[in-house]
Amino acid sequence: MKRLLILSGKGGTGKTTTAAAFIRFSQTKAIADCDVDAPNLHLVYEQTVEPAVSDFYGGDKAVIDPEKCISCGVCQSHCRFDAIEKAATGYAVNEYACEGCGVCAYVCPQKAVALHTDVAGRKELYLSGGVFSTATLKMGRGNSGKLVTDVKMAMLKNAPETPLAIIDGSPGIGCPVIASVSGMDLVLVVAEPSLSGVSDLKRLCKTAETFQAKLAVCVNKWDVSAENTNAIRDFCQSENIPFVGKIPYDKSASQAINAGLSLADIDCPARDALKDIFENTIQLLNQ
Ligand code: SF4
Ligand code: SF4
Repeated sequence: MKRLLILSGKGGTGKTTTAAAFIRFSQTKAIADCDVDAPNLHLVYEQTVEPAVSDFYGGDKAVIDPEKCISCGVCQSHCRFDAIEKAATGYAVNEYACEGCGVCAYVCPQKAVALHTDVAGRKELYLSGGVFSTATLKMGRGNSGKLVTDVKMAMLKNAPETPLAIIDGSPGIGCPVIASVSGMDLVLVVAEPSLSGVSDLKRLCKTAETFQAKLAVCVNKWDVSAENTNAIRDFCQSENIPFVGKIPYDKSASQAINAGLSLADIDCPARDALKDIFENTIQLLNQ
């Protein structure tokens, strides 16, 4: 089974639109949404079965027992992260600021503070003739790379016999992207033809290359700036990165997405361009 990861330098470039179209074109039964901060592949890849749901555990968080607390404030003065607040009802831990270091529990004279394992996210695994693995990280939580690895591994473990697995990655170059790149046969970067898009692409390619990932690039809404599209193509040429195609700006794309459809389901120029890009990508994967 070949593993294809689809990435972009930032959100809103058409990464998920591309992934959704590729899923339709390939009819693959092995899919993962690793964009754990804002997963949305499920909107265009609707499921008819209930998922198996499990918690994702992050680090520890401190919790103050109000029955034992005498409001001395010692914990607050020792917390380096300003995570302990004094409210009308007494001292309480701000779960978004707490780093789980345990100092408050150590200094509390009343033993009123305990560290609890934090549920930092929710994993969902849909199994119905194939596998669709996805997850959502709770707001303000770290460990996104570990959650991405969990999502990816759950998909790989449950994947049926299928020639292709498609993984929708996170935007940017952070921890979740790095976690998603390992073990991929090809990383397709969806680039935006703007000055920042060119810069994002360069950073993302550099990150992916550090992990020795095989890369390919396409441009979405290329006709918004033919000049920047050419700059992206030139960059790919200079770096020996295959340029697999360009998608025109197409009003049908937003209409399709708003209707919960994949662009592959709509007869429009963007669909035709995506089909060409899909075929070029598959060719590269099979080389
Ligand atoms: S150190 Fe312990 S007793 Fe004092 S305010 Fe904090 S939790 Fe309450
Ligand atoms: S565990 Fe550390 S960061 Fe969290 S409230 Fe206690 S001292 Fe602050």
